[in-house]
Amino acid sequence: MRVVTSIPNLSTRLDSLPRPLGLVPTMGALHDGHLALVKRARRENQTVVATIFVNPTQFGSQEDLSKYPRDRERDLDMLREHGVDVVFAPGADEMYPPGFDTWVDVGVLGDRLEGVHRPGHFRGVATVVAKLFSLVRPDRAYFGQKDGQQLAVIRRLVRDLNLGLEIVAVPTVRDPDGLAKSSRNAYLTSSQRQAAPVVYRALCRAESLWSSGVRDAERLRAEMKAVLETEPLVESIDYTSVADVESMDELDQVQLSGKAMVLVAVRFGSTRLIDNVILE
Ligand code: AMP
Repeated sequence: MRVVTSIPNLSTRLDSLPRPLGLVPTMGALHDGHLALVKRARRENQTVVATIFVNPTQFGSQEDLSKYPRDRERDLDMLREHGVDVVFAPGADEMYPPGFDTWVDVGVLGDRLEGVHRPGHFRGVATVVAKLFSLVRPDRAYFGQKDGQQLAVIRRLVRDLNLGLEIVAVPTVRDPDGLAKSSRNAYLTSSQRQAAPVVYRALCRAESLWSSGVRDAERLRAEMKAVLETEPLVESIDYTSVADVESMDELDQVQLSGKAMVLVAVRFGSTRLIDNVILE
C-alpha cells in the first residue's frame, strides 16, 4: 500500500494502476462502517484508493474540527489489512492552497435537514468530493447510507455535472444494539452511549408502522419524536423527517417502497448523532 500526501505524487501513482478503480473517501478515525465500504470496493475493482482528509470546509465555525478524532497509524494499518492499494492523505493546504475560491453549490438539496443545522456543510462536502473525483478519476465511488442526505447530494452532483462515475451506496453498519457506527460515537459518555440506541429504535418504530400500512408521514415523524422523547439524555431533537430519497423533499404520504427515508438528528450533550432508514 502506498501512502501519498501530495497531488503530483498521487497523479504519478495512479497512472499505472489497473482499472476499474474504486474510491473510498473518509475523514479517518476508521471503524467497521468505513471498512464495509473498503471491502465492497475491494470486491468490485482492480484498484482501491482510500482517502483520509478531515475536510475543514464542511465544518461550521462552532463545530468539532479541531477535536475530530485522528489516528493516522491505526487508520493506515486497517486500510493495509483490507487490501487498499493507495491512500491519499493530503494536508489542508494541499487541498485548499492560498487563493482557493471555487465552490460547488448544491442548491436546495443542501439547504434542507442537515443543511438547516449545519449551514454550508454540503457546499464543503460537494466541493471536496468533486476535487477528489477530479484528482483520482475513479470508475466507482463508495459512500455509506448512514449519511443519507450526503448520498443524495453526491448523486445529484454526479448527475448535474455529468461526472460519469458510478456511486455505490453501502448499507449502514451498526453495533449489536442498533447504534450506527460513527467516529463521533467516541465522544459519548458511557451513559449517553447506553442511551444512544434510542435513535435506531425511533427509526425502527417508523419502519414498522409503515410496514403495517401507515402511510401518513406526519404520523411517522410524530411517532419517532415520541420515541426519542422517552430518553432523558436526548438533549434536543434537531429533526425527525420523512423525506424523498432523491430530492430530500419532506413528504406528506409514503406510498412506494424504496422511495422514502426516515431520518433523525439528535444531540446527546454536545454530541450530535444522525441516522436514517429507507422504507422498503
Ligand atoms: P466519514 O469518515 O464520517 O466522512 O465517513 C466516510 C464514509 O463512511 C461516508 O461515506 C460515510 O457515509 C461512511 N460511513 C460512516 N459510518 C458508516 C456506517 N456506520 N455504515 C456505513 N457507512 C458508514
